[in-house]
Amino acid sequence: MKRRLVLLGAPGSGKGTQAEMITRQFGIPVTSPGAILRREKDLETPLGLETAEILQRGDLVPDKIIVKLIEDWLRLHGGYGFVFDGFPRTLPQAESLASILSGLHASLDAAIWLEVSEETVRARISGRLQCRTCGFTTSMDSAKFADRPICPYCEGRLERRSDDDMSVLQTRLREYNTKTQPLADFYGKMSILRRIDGNRDRETVFGDISRVIENKVPA
Ligand code: ADP
Repeated sequence: MKRRLVLLGAPGSGKGTQAEMITRQFGIPVTSPGAILRREKDLETPLGLETAEILQRGDLVPDKIIVKLIEDWLRLHGGYGFVFDGFPRTLPQAESLASILSGLHASLDAAIWLEVSEETVRARISGRLQCRTCGFTTSMDSAKFADRPICPYCEGRLERRSDDDMSVLQTRLREYNTKTQPLADFYGKMSILRRIDGNRDRETVFGDISRVIENKVPA
Protein backbone atom coordinates (compact mmCIF):
# COMPACT_ATOMS: atom_id res chain seq x y z
CA MET A 1 0.00 0.00 0.00
CA LYS A 2 1.48 3.36 -0.98
CA ARG A 3 1.02 5.95 1.75
CA ARG A 4 3.01 8.99 2.85
CA LEU A 5 2.85 9.25 6.61
CA VAL A 6 4.61 11.01 9.45
CA LEU A 7 4.49 9.69 13.01
CA LEU A 8 4.74 12.32 15.70
CA GLY A 9 4.75 12.14 19.47
CA ALA A 10 6.85 12.56 22.58
CA PRO A 11 9.92 10.41 23.25
CA GLY A 12 8.62 7.01 24.34
CA SER A 13 5.22 7.54 22.73
CA GLY A 14 5.67 4.35 20.71
CA LYS A 15 6.58 5.81 17.31
CA GLY A 16 9.32 3.26 16.59
CA THR A 17 7.18 0.29 17.65
CA GLN A 18 4.20 1.44 15.59
CA ALA A 19 6.37 2.31 12.57
CA GLU A 20 7.70 -1.24 12.57
CA MET A 21 4.17 -2.68 12.82
CA ILE A 22 3.02 -0.45 9.92
CA THR A 23 5.88 -1.71 7.76
CA ARG A 24 5.14 -5.33 8.60
CA GLN A 25 1.41 -5.04 8.01
CA PHE A 26 1.26 -2.65 5.05
CA GLY A 27 4.73 -2.91 3.49
CA ILE A 28 5.30 0.84 3.68
CA PRO A 29 9.03 1.63 4.09
CA VAL A 30 10.02 3.36 7.32
CA THR A 31 12.91 5.56 8.27
CA SER A 32 13.93 7.27 11.50
CA PRO A 33 16.56 10.02 11.71
CA GLY A 34 17.25 9.04 15.35
CA ALA A 35 17.99 5.43 14.37
CA ILE A 36 20.15 6.55 11.43
CA LEU A 37 22.18 8.87 13.65
CA ARG A 38 22.71 6.18 16.32
CA ARG A 39 23.97 3.80 13.64
CA GLU A 40 26.26 6.48 12.19
CA LYS A 41 27.69 7.02 15.66
CA ASP A 42 28.35 3.29 16.15
CA LEU A 43 30.06 3.23 12.75
CA GLU A 44 32.07 6.33 13.75
CA THR A 45 31.26 8.15 10.50
CA PRO A 46 31.85 11.95 10.34
CA LEU A 47 28.07 12.53 10.61
CA GLY A 48 27.80 10.16 13.58
CA LEU A 49 30.70 11.79 15.39
CA GLU A 50 29.42 15.30 14.63
CA THR A 51 25.96 14.63 16.07
CA ALA A 52 26.69 12.16 18.92
CA GLU A 53 27.10 14.85 21.54
CA ILE A 54 23.84 16.56 20.55
CA LEU A 55 21.92 13.29 20.92
CA GLN A 56 23.63 12.63 24.21
CA ARG A 57 22.47 15.99 25.56
CA GLY A 58 18.91 15.38 24.35
CA ASP A 59 18.93 18.42 22.06
CA LEU A 60 17.68 18.41 18.49
CA VAL A 61 20.14 18.05 15.63
CA PRO A 62 20.22 21.09 13.27
CA ASP A 63 17.38 21.09 10.73
CA LYS A 64 19.78 21.27 7.78
CA ILE A 65 21.42 17.95 8.68
CA ILE A 66 18.11 16.18 9.25
CA VAL A 67 16.46 17.52 6.09
CA LYS A 68 19.44 16.35 4.05
CA LEU A 69 19.11 12.83 5.54
CA ILE A 70 15.45 12.74 4.57
CA GLU A 71 16.09 14.12 1.08
CA ASP A 72 18.76 11.49 0.46
CA TRP A 73 16.46 8.76 1.75
CA LEU A 74 13.55 9.93 -0.41
CA ARG A 75 15.73 9.98 -3.50
CA LEU A 76 16.66 6.33 -2.95
CA HIS A 77 13.48 4.82 -1.49
CA GLY A 78 10.69 7.37 -1.79
CA GLY A 79 8.91 5.73 -4.72
CA TYR A 80 7.04 3.30 -2.46
CA GLY A 81 5.63 5.80 0.02
CA PHE A 82 7.02 6.18 3.53
CA VAL A 83 6.53 6.34 7.26
CA PHE A 84 8.80 8.87 8.95
CA ASP A 85 9.38 8.03 12.60
CA GLY A 86 10.54 11.16 14.41
CA PHE A 87 10.50 13.51 11.41
CA PRO A 88 9.57 16.33 11.20
CA ARG A 89 10.25 17.63 14.69
CA THR A 90 10.35 21.36 14.03
CA LEU A 91 8.34 23.80 11.93
CA PRO A 92 11.20 24.42 9.47
CA GLN A 93 11.51 20.63 8.99
CA ALA A 94 7.77 20.36 8.30
CA GLU A 95 7.95 23.23 5.82
CA SER A 96 10.97 21.66 4.08
CA LEU A 97 9.16 18.34 3.80
CA ALA A 98 6.10 20.04 2.29
CA SER A 99 8.25 21.79 -0.29
CA ILE A 100 10.25 18.64 -1.16
CA LEU A 101 6.99 16.74 -1.65
CA SER A 102 5.40 19.47 -3.69
CA GLY A 103 8.48 19.37 -5.97
CA LEU A 104 7.65 15.69 -6.47
CA HIS A 105 3.95 16.53 -7.06
CA ALA A 106 3.12 14.60 -3.91
CA SER A 107 1.69 15.33 -0.48
CA LEU A 108 1.29 13.71 2.93
CA ASP A 109 -1.69 11.43 3.51
CA ALA A 110 -1.67 11.76 7.30
CA ALA A 111 0.26 13.12 10.26
CA ILE A 112 -0.36 10.58 13.01
CA TRP A 113 0.15 11.99 16.49
CA LEU A 114 0.65 9.52 19.34
CA GLU A 115 -0.52 11.28 22.46
CA VAL A 116 0.84 10.01 25.76
CA SER A 117 0.95 11.29 29.32
CA GLU A 118 4.25 12.27 30.90
CA GLU A 119 3.73 9.37 33.31
CA THR A 120 3.62 6.90 30.39
CA VAL A 121 6.75 8.45 28.88
CA ARG A 122 8.74 8.12 32.11
CA ALA A 123 7.62 4.55 32.74
CA ARG A 124 8.43 3.42 29.20
CA ILE A 125 11.75 5.20 28.87
CA SER A 126 13.05 4.07 32.24
CA GLY A 127 12.40 0.43 31.32
CA ARG A 128 13.41 0.49 27.67
CA LEU A 129 16.07 -1.83 26.27
CA GLN A 130 17.32 -1.62 22.70
CA CYS A 131 19.49 -3.85 20.54
CA ARG A 132 22.72 -2.08 19.63
CA THR A 133 22.88 -3.87 16.31
CA CYS A 134 19.38 -3.97 14.79
CA GLY A 135 17.41 -1.54 16.96
CA PHE A 136 14.87 -4.09 18.26
CA THR A 137 13.21 -2.49 21.29
CA THR A 138 11.77 -4.19 24.35
CA SER A 139 11.24 -3.59 28.03
CA MET A 140 13.29 -4.66 31.04
CA ASP A 141 10.08 -6.00 32.57
CA SER A 142 9.96 -8.63 29.92
CA ALA A 143 11.18 -11.62 31.98
CA LYS A 144 12.69 -13.23 28.87
CA PHE A 145 15.35 -10.56 28.66
CA ALA A 146 16.02 -9.86 32.32
CA ASP A 147 18.69 -12.56 32.76
CA ARG A 148 19.98 -12.68 29.21
CA PRO A 149 19.95 -9.27 27.50
CA ILE A 150 20.47 -10.68 24.00
CA CYS A 151 18.45 -9.68 20.93
CA PRO A 152 16.11 -12.48 19.80
CA TYR A 153 16.56 -11.46 16.15
CA CYS A 154 20.28 -10.85 15.70
CA GLU A 155 21.98 -11.89 18.95
CA GLY A 156 23.14 -8.28 19.46
CA ARG A 157 23.39 -6.84 22.97
CA LEU A 158 20.26 -5.30 24.49
CA GLU A 159 21.15 -2.12 26.38
CA ARG A 160 19.59 1.06 27.65
CA ARG A 161 19.97 3.91 25.16
CA SER A 162 22.38 6.42 26.66
CA ASP A 163 19.89 9.26 26.05
CA ASP A 164 17.22 7.35 28.01
CA ASP A 165 18.77 8.72 31.18
CA MET A 166 16.14 10.64 33.21
CA SER A 167 18.00 13.96 33.19
CA VAL A 168 18.50 13.77 29.40
CA LEU A 169 14.82 12.89 29.05
CA GLN A 170 14.00 16.21 30.70
CA THR A 171 15.76 18.03 27.83
CA ARG A 172 14.14 15.83 25.18
CA LEU A 173 10.71 16.58 26.62
CA ARG A 174 11.45 20.30 26.67
CA GLU A 175 12.53 20.16 23.01
CA TYR A 176 9.36 18.26 22.19
CA ASN A 177 7.09 20.69 24.01
CA THR A 178 8.64 23.82 22.56
CA LYS A 179 9.65 22.77 19.03
CA THR A 180 7.49 19.80 18.01
CA GLN A 181 4.12 20.67 19.58
CA PRO A 182 3.57 23.61 17.16
CA LEU A 183 3.36 21.05 14.33
CA ALA A 184 -0.10 20.05 15.59
CA ASP A 185 -1.37 23.40 14.34
CA PHE A 186 0.55 23.11 11.09
CA TYR A 187 -0.95 19.71 10.23
CA GLY A 188 -4.30 20.60 11.76
CA LYS A 189 -4.63 23.43 9.25
CA MET A 190 -3.82 21.02 6.43
CA SER A 191 -6.61 18.74 7.76
CA ILE A 192 -4.33 15.71 7.90
CA LEU A 193 -3.70 15.57 11.66
CA ARG A 194 -4.90 12.33 13.29
CA ARG A 195 -4.56 12.20 17.08
CA ILE A 196 -4.37 8.75 18.64
CA ASP A 197 -4.26 7.84 22.33
CA GLY A 198 -0.83 6.19 22.66
CA ASN A 199 -1.19 5.28 26.34
CA ARG A 200 -2.93 2.02 25.44
CA ASP A 201 -1.33 -1.32 24.53
CA ARG A 202 0.50 -1.58 21.21
CA GLU A 203 -2.15 -3.68 19.41
CA THR A 204 -4.99 -1.31 20.32
CA VAL A 205 -2.97 1.70 19.18
CA PHE A 206 -2.08 -0.13 15.99
CA GLY A 207 -5.77 -0.88 15.35
CA ASP A 208 -6.50 2.87 15.32
CA ILE A 209 -3.48 3.60 13.12
CA SER A 210 -4.56 0.89 10.67
CA ARG A 211 -7.96 2.52 10.32
CA VAL A 212 -6.28 5.83 9.47
CA ILE A 213 -4.06 4.12 6.89
CA GLU A 214 -7.01 2.35 5.35
CA ASN A 215 -8.85 5.68 5.21
CA LYS A 216 -11.62 4.50 7.50
CA VAL A 217 -11.37 7.63 9.64
CA PRO A 218 -13.15 10.68 8.22
CA ALA A 219 -11.11 13.88 7.89
P1 ADP B 1 12.77 9.42 20.67
O1 ADP B 1 11.60 9.57 19.78
O2 ADP B 1 12.60 8.32 21.67
O3 ADP B 1 13.20 10.72 21.30
P2 ADP B 1 14.55 9.19 18.37
O4 ADP B 1 15.35 7.99 18.06
O5 ADP B 1 13.45 9.55 17.44
O6 ADP B 1 14.02 8.96 19.85
O7 ADP B 1 15.51 10.48 18.48
C1 ADP B 1 16.68 10.46 19.27
C2 ADP B 1 17.44 11.78 19.08
O8 ADP B 1 17.84 11.94 17.71
C3 ADP B 1 16.68 13.05 19.41
O9 ADP B 1 16.69 13.35 20.79
C4 ADP B 1 17.47 14.09 18.56
O10 ADP B 1 18.68 14.45 19.18
C5 ADP B 1 17.81 13.30 17.30
N1 ADP B 1 16.75 13.47 16.27
C6 ADP B 1 15.92 12.49 15.81
N2 ADP B 1 15.06 12.98 14.91
C7 ADP B 1 15.32 14.32 14.80
C8 ADP B 1 14.78 15.38 14.03
N3 ADP B 1 13.75 15.21 13.18
N4 ADP B 1 15.31 16.64 14.19
C9 ADP B 1 16.32 16.86 15.02
N5 ADP B 1 16.89 15.89 15.78
C10 ADP B 1 16.42 14.63 15.67
